Amino acid sequence: MFWTRALIRRAARVRRRVTSERALGERAIAAYLGLAIGDALGATVEFLTPNEIRHQHGLHRDITGGGWLRLKAGQVTDDTGMSLALGAAILAHGGVEAKASAEAFDAWMRSKPVDIGNTVRRNLIAFRKTGNPEAVPSEHDAGNGAAMRVLPVALACYGQTPEKTLAASHAQAHTTHHNALSDGACDTLIFMVQDFLAGRDALDVENRRAAVLVGRHPVFAYGRKRCENPSGFIVETIQAVFQSFFATASFEDCLIDVVNRGGDADTTGAIAGMLAGARYGLQAIPERWLSALDDATSRQCEDQARELIALGGH
Ligand code: MN
Ligand code: MN
Repeated sequence: MFWTRALIRRAARVRRRVTSERALGERAIAAYLGLAIGDALGATVEFLTPNEIRHQHGLHRDITGGGWLRLKAGQVTDDTGMSLALGAAILAHGGVEAKASAEAFDAWMRSKPVDIGNTVRRNLIAFRKTGNPEAVPSEHDAGNGAAMRVLPVALACYGQTPEKTLAASHAQAHTTHHNALSDGACDTLIFMVQDFLAGRDALDVENRRAAVLVGRHPVFAYGRKRCENPSGFIVETIQAVFQSFFATASFEDCLIDVVNRGGDADTTGAIAGMLAGARYGLQAIPERWLSALDDATSRQCEDQARELIALGGH
């Protein structure tokens, strides 16, 4: 067979596509493992102040379990648990549905998870009573509970229109958090993950997404004072995550910086880990963290990442 120019060009095109599909799959997996790693790493120091962390751990940089939840090393909490519950519901229904999401969260709550947020519990109990998967809008429900579990939506909606992605973002978020600040954070995080999956660089993503969020809701401005001991308020969570994420240049530095701020450290760790996984890819995740993560959890994260990204035909 003769290799005509056309054939050679076609082969090059196929190779490029296969390489970028592989890179996409690996970034999706890295984002999911990053989420779980940040959760497991941060949980040890959740609710400690930076001073208490320094006193008890020096610089906290290893997945050792413990913390107020007395976790096993490598065990994850509600951030990863709710993400996996949501991801399974999306896969079972071929897309993001409010009712299926609420039912999945309700079933997760019945499984007696190690931790659960107050807003999540209250609105899931309301769902049990009313059957309405959309929580009542509330200016008080501005916790980080919806934002910590957005990753399956970002993966399932990769390549879809912004309108469809936003509808999916709100369908999952409003099951427990029906709040404009929570929505702004959820939407922004989803688009950021998708930008990194597509290979965009951090400066570009900061301008396209983070700056736009701050423009719309100036309360999220993260350029000033270092946010330490961030509470579960979504604004403090995002400020801590963005400060660490945009000021560091590796997966490891980003996660160490964010969890040593203390406060809601498993959740800032989970969100930062998701973003950093998508940005830096699988190769950038330290071996000691990959091997410390609970086996069953890492397998579920990997499988879901592959299957969710395949939903869009990738
Ligand atoms: Mn948690
Ligand atoms: Mn938390």
